Amino acid sequence: MIPIKTDEEIEVQRESSLLVGKTLAEVAKYIKPGVVTVTLDKIAEEFIRDNGAIPGFKGYSGFPATLCISVNEHVVHGIPGNQVLKDGDIVSVDCGVLKNGFYGDSAYTFAVGTVDPETLLLLERTKQSLFLGIEQAVNGRRVGDIGHAIQSFTEQFGYGVVRELVGHGVGKRLHEKPEVPNYGKQGSGPKLLSGMVIAIEPMINMGTRHITQSADGWTIRTSDRKPSAHFEHTLAIRNEKADILSSFEWVEAVLKQMNE
Ligand code: MG
Ligand code: MG
Repeated sequence: MIPIKTDEEIEVQRESSLLVGKTLAEVAKYIKPGVVTVTLDKIAEEFIRDNGAIPGFKGYSGFPATLCISVNEHVVHGIPGNQVLKDGDIVSVDCGVLKNGFYGDSAYTFAVGTVDPETLLLLERTKQSLFLGIEQAVNGRRVGDIGHAIQSFTEQFGYGVVRELVGHGVGKRLHEKPEVPNYGKQGSGPKLLSGMVIAIEPMINMGTRHITQSADGWTIRTSDRKPSAHFEHTLAIRNEKADILSSFEWVEAVLKQMNE
């Protein structure tokens, strides 16, 4: 069974999801060459707790940190540590919070300093693919419509769509039904109904779609070690168009200010 949320529950979940957006913006202020990834994690944890919530990932299946921080060829699930970000890196920051019994989940991939144009395009197109997926996330469509939109858009550029990791329902639990793959056939998979809340999260690789798990048991990297990007929103299925519960608004305001 795929949970259907009441309007009241969705409002609670919006609060959790918006807090994730604000947390990512707080972290964004510090993303520059020379910062150590564990510093970003501490900033996020403090911000989440100051806002009356708890980090959603910490302790989840034994994950040790507040953020998943995945640099360059690391796709997702990177553990913050003593890695120093350097000019030209890209860094995916994935954040989840639990507040008032509901989870929010969102991710953004940032450029560190000056990043080569080809990689910047990967970021831009991965974000675009997220919104193309969201366009399909309406009452009556199917999960495969989302994956198809993401896959057909990104593969035209020769990118690899990660298959082993997928989006998901999200609510009282961080991962609920349905699974939401970033690939698929139109008209296939579970039907989307108003009130379902899902996280759509394309993980798009510059090269091969194949991935490898690192020795730490968590970090997923591309098999060819080319870069990978990841963007994620939590959203509610509605009749005309999805209601996006998380937000990149604050992140992008910070980025705009930093580039001025
Ligand atoms: Mg996430
Ligand atoms: Mg997720």
